[in-house]
Amino acid sequence: HYGGMSQATIRNLDPATGELIEEVPCATGADVQAAVARARAAWPAWRDMESSQRLDLVRAALERMGEQAPELGAVLSREMGKPLERAVGEVRGYVQRLTEELERVAQAIAPEIVPGSEDRVLLTREPHGVVAVITPWNFPVGMPAQMLVPALGAGNTVVFKPSEHVPLTGAYLARLFQEQLPEGVLELLQGEGAVGAALVDADVDMVAFVGSRATGIAIMRSAAGGLKRVVLELGGKDPLIIFADSDLEAAALSATQFSLSNTGQVCCSVERVLVESSVAEKIEELVLKEVANWPFGDPLAKGTCMGPLVSESQRDNVVAHVADAREKGARIAIGGELPEGPGWFYPATVIVDAPEDAKVRQDETFGPVVCLSTFETEEEAIEKANDTVYGLGANVWTSDPERGQRVSAALRAGQVGVNRYLGGAPGTPWVGARQSGMGFLGGIEGHRQFTSPKTVATAPA
Ligand code: NAD
Repeated sequence: HYGGMSQATIRNLDPATGELIEEVPCATGADVQAAVARARAAWPAWRDMESSQRLDLVRAALERMGEQAPELGAVLSREMGKPLERAVGEVRGYVQRLTEELERVAQAIAPEIVPGSEDRVLLTREPHGVVAVITPWNFPVGMPAQMLVPALGAGNTVVFKPSEHVPLTGAYLARLFQEQLPEGVLELLQGEGAVGAALVDADVDMVAFVGSRATGIAIMRSAAGGLKRVVLELGGKDPLIIFADSDLEAAALSATQFSLSNTGQVCCSVERVLVESSVAEKIEELVLKEVANWPFGDPLAKGTCMGPLVSESQRDNVVAHVADAREKGARIAIGGELPEGPGWFYPATVIVDAPEDAKVRQDETFGPVVCLSTFETEEEAIEKANDTVYGLGANVWTSDPERGQRVSAALRAGQVGVNRYLGGAPGTPWVGARQSGMGFLGGIEGHRQFTSPKTVATAPA
């Protein structure tokens, strides 16, 4: 009946109460095939449309998202647990960023006449065809939107599968796009990992994926059969290094905020804070002071800065990391106890001196945990920071500009922040090194990954 899929419906639970919001039917194997076939049928007309007209339709969808930000944010907040104001902020922030990004999509796909030959050499950027967009739950609007915009803008059609934890946000977002686009240009499939796997296996030309390293590996393996293009944005275990000469207040504030933001469920969360031992006591004191500003609470209530974890299994993962650290001799300076009551809440927790083989130092915790450990020398700081298979972001705090540059050059990460959090200039790619990804998103180079270059060389008449 379900075409080999394992589940008939998604039981969409409110993470703040554990109550059922809605049962959402999952796609069957036949649904997957049909959605891909509709997207393939819609492709030629979409590909051949004037690019400015295509980008105008995408821009109109972004405008609708902006208009609907309060309603879309409310759906997101309820099913994922992100505080309402931040959920609305996610929608508005991505609308603004991606609207600006449309200009770069236009630049990325503009045809060029390449100089240097007597012949006329035309370089174009051809869309791949049908792109599978498969996304996680932690930024349920931002992650899909940042792939839909360049994928569609470049002339691909898309089959989109949102995370099984945020099906209603996914459906809402898809509808806003579908209302602006020709039929079949964006298809939606609901379901868990099995539906994602069936989509990767179906007749698609590219898989654009944001999610965990384990799923990224599975997708790459299955995409290999058809030599399908992949862009994979995966997890991280980001370090934040604090040298004794840094602005300790600012460093401790940044370390705490970016460990706890989104209840720690951010791919580039600070997952490990490495502190020069001479200032370790002071940093712990400052961190504990800031942690007091991060109580958990009802995501729909005004002023809440930290909601629950997204699911029971996500909370179980955090509980396991804290228990493992405790068993291996770490000190839990605050938090670390399961609260009473419904929902998958967990308190902001500070773990001090977990040994290097502890889970909390090696695997993604993805929870509201500040993990403090120490180092003695610059070399040791770099070595410990790089002691991971991941390489998404990294942060360095020091008042010595040369050291800041030296250490950031030595860090194996796609994005480094010096005396600030990552990010910055618009147009730079969102990118992970090592096993944090394959390919990247954003900026002209990122947008071009939704295309293949093609040259046509014509001899002079
Ligand atoms: P996940 O890998 O469990 O799931 C992501 C998506 O993949 C979901 O839609 C899921 O249904 C689908 N999926 C699962 N198995 C599949 C399979 N075999 N084939 C195809 N699709 C499959 O990740 P998650 O728990 O939803 O998200 C959290 C992870 O995402 C963390 O590791 C986080 O670091 C990462 N993330 C990375 C970035 C980035 O930009 N690098 C951004 C956000 C989140």
